[in-house]
Amino acid sequence: MKHNSLFHYHLGLAFFSLFPGVIALLITHQWYWFPATVVLVNILGLFRTNMFLALSFHVLKPIAGMLGGEGFAAEEMVITLGSEKTLRRFGGSIPAERILLLLPHCLQKHDCKHRITFNPYNCARCGRCPIGALLDLADRTGVKIAIATGGTLARRHIKELRPLAVVAVACPRDLGQGMLDANPVPVVGVENSRPAGDCLDTQVDVLAVEKTINRLAVIPGGKN
Ligand code: SF4
Repeated sequence: MKHNSLFHYHLGLAFFSLFPGVIALLITHQWYWFPATVVLVNILGLFRTNMFLALSFHVLKPIAGMLGGEGFAAEEMVITLGSEKTLRRFGGSIPAERILLLLPHCLQKHDCKHRITFNPYNCARCGRCPIGALLDLADRTGVKIAIATGGTLARRHIKELRPLAVVAVACPRDLGQGMLDANPVPVVGVENSRPAGDCLDTQVDVLAVEKTINRLAVIPGGKN
């Protein structure tokens, strides 16, 4: 885990651990409900549930917005915590063909004439954008691949293809919200980079995507 992700991971864990205690304190106005709730929630492991992840996201998001910066802190927390949770729970156990590699349309070179939204295999793999290399990766590993132009199409792909887990590539904003929307399907997020600005000719580290798939998928005849 990179340093930044590690920071967000522990920030998220701390937030998850204390957040229910703050809510209990606000409701009861009795100080002892704070430690009691924190202990109870941690013993039961509730702070790792998707419900708390979603709740914490919606509380942290306006706070992160007020503190300035790129405003991605809440999304980064969901991406890091959600991805680690998925990898720890399902790492090395999902058949590759039940993993969906979900890609954003903005990875495609903006002037490419091939229509890939409904059939990624229309791509000619010319090498001008990462789509061709990601198709090669899907061929090598056996994962399914789909391209989404937004949250609605992403949810439709998940509903129709019924994966056991999703490896999703997107910008932090779409990824954070998308990972919550995909619940209960577990998702590992890989952030894209945006050298030409948001939503245009975005890039992704194909090797990082491959490593993520390899951590999640069953490796035939061997250990991960
Ligand atoms: S790899 Fe080439 S053909 Fe495929 S989507 Fe990108 S630009 Fe188009």
